[in-house]
Parts: sequence; C-alpha cells; structure tokens
Amino acid sequence: MATAEAQTHGQTRVVHAVCSLDCPDSCGVLVTVESLTAPDGMRSERATKIAGDPTHPVTRGFLCAKVAQYLDRVYSPDRLLYPMRRKPGAPKGPAGYGGKKGREADAFERITWNEALGLIAEKLKSTAAEFGPESILPYSYAGTLGKLGFASIDRRFFHRLGASQLDRTICSEAGGVAFKTVYGIKLGTKPEDFAHAGLVIAWGANIHGTNVHLWPFVEEARRKGARLIVIDPYRTRTAALADEHLTIRPGTDGMLALAMMHVIYRDGLEDAGYLRECTVGASELREHALRREHSPERAAEITGIAAEAITRLARDYALCLKRTGKPAVIRLNYGIQRAENGGTSVRAACMLPLIIGSWKQKGGGVQFTVSGAFPFNTAALEMPELMRASPLGRDARIVNMSCLGQALTELGFADPEREGPPVKAMFVYNSNPAAIAPNQNSVLRGMMRDDLFMVVHEQFFTDTTDYADIVLPAPTFLEVKDVQGAYGHLFAQVSNRAIAPLGEAWSNVRLFTALAERMGLMEACFRDTEDQLIDQVLTTDDPPLFGPTFAGITRERLEREGHIPLALPVNAQGDALPFSTAEWFRTPSGRGELTPVPLFVPATESRLGAGASDGKYPLEFLPRKADNYMNSTFANNPRHRKMEARTAGVLEMHPTDAAARALATGDEVEVFNGRGTIWLRAMVGEMVPPGVVAARIEWNKFSGENGHSGTNVNALTSETLTDMGRGATFYSTLVEVRRAAEISPQH
Ligand code: SF4
Repeated sequence: MATAEAQTHGQTRVVHAVCSLDCPDSCGVLVTVESLTAPDGMRSERATKIAGDPTHPVTRGFLCAKVAQYLDRVYSPDRLLYPMRRKPGAPKGPAGYGGKKGREADAFERITWNEALGLIAEKLKSTAAEFGPESILPYSYAGTLGKLGFASIDRRFFHRLGASQLDRTICSEAGGVAFKTVYGIKLGTKPEDFAHAGLVIAWGANIHGTNVHLWPFVEEARRKGARLIVIDPYRTRTAALADEHLTIRPGTDGMLALAMMHVIYRDGLEDAGYLRECTVGASELREHALRREHSPERAAEITGIAAEAITRLARDYALCLKRTGKPAVIRLNYGIQRAENGGTSVRAACMLPLIIGSWKQKGGGVQFTVSGAFPFNTAALEMPELMRASPLGRDARIVNMSCLGQALTELGFADPEREGPPVKAMFVYNSNPAAIAPNQNSVLRGMMRDDLFMVVHEQFFTDTTDYADIVLPAPTFLEVKDVQGAYGHLFAQVSNRAIAPLGEAWSNVRLFTALAERMGLMEACFRDTEDQLIDQVLTTDDPPLFGPTFAGITRERLEREGHIPLALPVNAQGDALPFSTAEWFRTPSGRGELTPVPLFVPATESRLGAGASDGKYPLEFLPRKADNYMNSTFANNPRHRKMEARTAGVLEMHPTDAAARALATGDEVEVFNGRGTIWLRAMVGEMVPPGVVAARIEWNKFSGENGHSGTNVNALTSETLTDMGRGATFYSTLVEVRRAAEISPQH
C-alpha cells in the first residue's frame, strides 16, 4: 500500500459502529473513514477518527480511554494480517519473550488461506476419524459481543462436526444463574435511572474504571445530593472518588448482605407490602437473617468492615427514600461472583431491593446485568440441533472452559470410556486462554502437548498463539458487520463495517463458512450471509418476555437509526421499572424468590476456609483486572501499557503484611502457592486491606522479566468452581509472599 503522505485524500464518510469489547456499555461509535488515492490510481480507505455517537442516549458521545485509542490497535504494525503455520521443527512455547518482538516470526511462516483451510480441514477430519469428534474442542468467549462474531456459523460448524461443547462459564455464569434464581430473568435498573437515586452503592463495581458510561448518571445523582458508597477489597478509581469506601475482604459479600438484612429486619425497615405482593419466602428469609450469626458484630469479624459501618450502611440503604425522597440503588458487578461462594453472594445482595421494595421507585433496584431483556434468537444462530446430524447422533459432551487445564491434561486420559476422548484438537477464537484461564501452569502444560493440534484466530501474536500450529488473522470490530445488545443498557444496535478487513483478516462468519465448505458440510445453513444471520437473530419466536420487546426492531431500521430502545412495558408515568410489580418476575412462582435462604460458607481458599488452616498460604490474592485493558486485550498496545504503568509488575500489599515479611516498596518478591509462582516488585500501601495482596493481569510474554519464566497472575489461580453456575473462582486464591532473594531455584 502507498504511504499516507503520497496519497491524495478524497471524500470522508462517517459510519455507525458498536464497540464489541466485553464491557457493559456497548458504546455507539462513529468512525470517520477517508478515501485515499495512491499515485498509481489505487483506491483505498482508512479510518481516521473514532468517536462516541452523541445521539446514543446512554453512551452519549464519548468513548473510554481504551477505545479512544482504538485506531492504534487497528493499524498497529504488529497486527496479524495473514494466515501462518508453525515452521517445521519450531517448538511450541513462549515467543516474543519479555516483550521483545521477533521470535514469533522465527516460529511461523506465512501461508495462503487456501493452504490454511486445507491443513485445518484435513487435521480435523483425521482427528475426528481416529479419536471421535469430541476430541475436537472449540474455545471462545467474549472477544467480541457482536452476536455473529460471538456465536453463529462457528457454533453450527462445531455442532455439525460433533465436537465437544464448551461451557462458557469463565466470566459471569455464577452470578447470572444466581440472579435468575431470585428474579427468573437477567434484568435490572436502567443506567439512565441511576440519576434519580438518593444513594448509589457500587458493590464490587469499578464504575469509573470499567463501566464509564454509568458514571455520568452517578455524578448527576450526586450533584442532586446522592451519596456514593463503594464496597470493594481494592481501592479502585471509583473507591477513591466515593463518599465512602468500605474495604471488604474477598468472598465475604454474602455475609455483608445478610448482615444488612439483619439490621433492616431488626429495625423494622422492610417493605412488608411489597414483600407480600411480589415475593415468596419472605418469612423464612426474615427468620434466617435475624439469626445472631448474621449480626453486624459477627459480620464485622468476617468481612473486616466495622459493625457500626455495617449498621449505618444498612440503615442508610433502607431509609434512603424516607430521608431523601429518592430510592437507593445498587450497582453489583461481576467481581463478587468470581469466588467459591460467588453465586450465594449475588443471590444475597440482589435480594436487598426486594426487602426494601426499592424497585417501585425510579432510580431504585439493582443493576447486575440487563442482558436478559434482549430476546435474541440465539438458537436460530447456533442451531444446536445440528449435533444430532453429527456422526455422534446426539448432543456432544460438555467441557467447562474454567477447567481448561484439566481438559488438556487429564480429560479422557485415564478413563476414556466414561469421559470420552482426550482433547486432540483445539480451535481458539475470541479468547486468549494462555493468559486468562485459571491454573495457568496446567493450561500451558496442556498446550505444550505435541499431540495437540491448535488453531488460533487472532488479531495479534498473543500468549495463546505461542502454542498454535496454525494462526489465522482476525478483524477488529471496524472491519465487520454485526448486531449487538448490551448487558449495561437497553438499546439494540447494528455495527456497520467501516473499513475493509486489513490484510487477509477474515471474520468468524467468513472463516467458518469457508471451513464448513472445505470439510464438505453441505447444509444450506452454512451459506447464510451476515444480513440473513442478523435477520434470524432478530426474529424471535420464543414466547415474548414482556410483550413484543423486539417490536419493530429490524435490520433495516437498525441500519438507518443505529440504535433502538427495547420496547419494555411502562407504567402510567411512562417509566419502565423492572420488578416494580409482580408481572416482571420470570421465576417458577412468578414472584421474587427468597428461598432457599442464602447460607454464607467461607471459601476454602480464604482466611476463614480450610485452605488457610495450615498457615502455608495465609494471604488472599486478588488477580485484578486493569482499568485500561479489557481482560488481556490491549495489554500489548504501547499506549495502554503506559496508562497502566503504575501497577506494572507490582504486588500491592498492606504495610502490616509487608512489615511481617520485612518487605519494602521496590523489593523483588516471589508470590506463590501450590500451583505456581510469579515474581513481582512489592508496592506497599493501603490499596488493599491487611491479609490481601493484589496484582493485575498482564500478558505472560510481558511478565517474564529478570530471567523469570513468563507467567501471569493465573499461575496462582485454581480450577475450583463456584457454588452456582460452575464458574471460575479467580478471587478465591491463597498465596504466600517472600523476598525473591530467598527463593530456592526449584520452587
Ligand atoms: S470498552 Fe466499553 S466503554 Fe469503552 S468504548 Fe467499548 S463499550 Fe464503550
């Protein structure tokens, strides 16, 4: 391509897109695209500006710091632009180590798409023939939230092969399942309504860091007198900006919620009328909450929050309407459910607005996720019935993505009769499991297996491509067309293709369509176009959730208007207030279900659990997310790394814990447990409470400085699953810390 300087600049146009990153906000985006003409007459296009869509009622014209720099990522010189295969004899394993580039180029060589499809098709066919189709494992998650990119032809393809199904549990399943046990549907307070609250509780929610489009509504409420209280073990940006930060110990949120209920019931602050009309199990819950074990004093011992502060929180919460004329609202986020008892924590916390009846007022309730309000026809996109047309003739086995290490190193080895075959081929897309999956040493051991064939569809050489046999170039969201809902607001949107895919990047739809053809899958469903797929997912024939929520929402209208609000039922004032009346609940009883009552059980890996009893690993570890990365996405972009420089390579610890180990800021430390070790520099301060240490996610290949092996925080996390939803338990991790100089090389 000619350089930009040598080109003449022609017309510009502005294209409506949607940020597809895994974020509640699903921003409306405007991409300015300029036509360019090279001296030889060749025409091309380049995105020259990315900005928020000012007409979007929630995301209102601004982008977060991550995506404001997104063109750096789109046009990064490091983008993967061509299919590649591992060179004969090139060993699998870390490349580009310590952030130094170049070793990937030693390990891989460019091939054509035709060659890549041929190699993959041949290998998948021979693997299925020899070991059975379940020996093939797709591994994908929310690298894109676009409906087509997330799950469409790819699912049809793997279902039709009879490949193992992937249980996609790693992020939010525990909380999602838990919330639905109480409400029957994942729905909650609209972000716009937060402006009408008299008290905002951000519970495990770093709104200012990772849900930035809610922040203006919170600020609006504060300007009108609302207080913001943050409940979080870590002093996030949001906590630093709050009126009050309650530093809770990890995994004890359920106990805090029960203690709040205790105070509310003890002081007679519940909404008896609402409980009677809209819930079942209220008397059992009342009796349970009033037990002495849930008193603020007992909860203080467990949560680390003073009894007086718990009492004040509960009373402020329950009395907010009476005192201010406005309701209290809770923004509950996913952090609290990534613990062994995470499902119970979500159940307990999300019962609070039922007890005080705050759903009845605009600006009350709780927002956990609102994704359940979008009646997308995912079955039409994914076609699970194709499994019955596979060689298996039945539904394939299910492999939990939160146990990838076990899946690659244990599953099917000892007992194939019962478990099915070992995984022999893995197809990774929309994810970077070498960096983000728990129990990383086990995951990497599995990926190192010579007999595992691995394909990775990616935008960059990640930690996962280091183990790939074939690497395929993936587009950014500017380069594909898609349709999207949100889990933080109630607008459906279409994302138009702003620019042609760079290099030879292929969308998920194009990739799996071509691969299906190459493998001889003849069904017409493998030839559906993007527009047909969008039409299918918008055509729901399920019973309506609340009437015709998608009424009038068509592809054509979305293309014209960009975003359209869901048609939820409204009250006499024209407000959609979820769970304000019994009609909103989708539980079997048709009411908010308060039983079985939530029982607080400390995580095994916590200071109160059996895992701490021998004292070997006494510290609770928070493997934090970065504000300026999206899980592991952006961790290789220089500007994003700069924004995260403060906590690069550091372990944050409280002065008490540092003093007990004679450590000071800047000391090199070894953080370890029975699963692994990482090496960091101590940063002593009050970002975490005593007994808790924190480090943030980083790519393995940027973590391996000072001669130490490149692994990240997930070398310490486990494959233990949550109490509900079989999710990952990143925040139930015990470790010990010592000065790195004292380490034994074998540890
Ligand atoms: S990451 Fe979230 S806040 Fe940032 S642009 Fe994307 S959707 Fe918006």
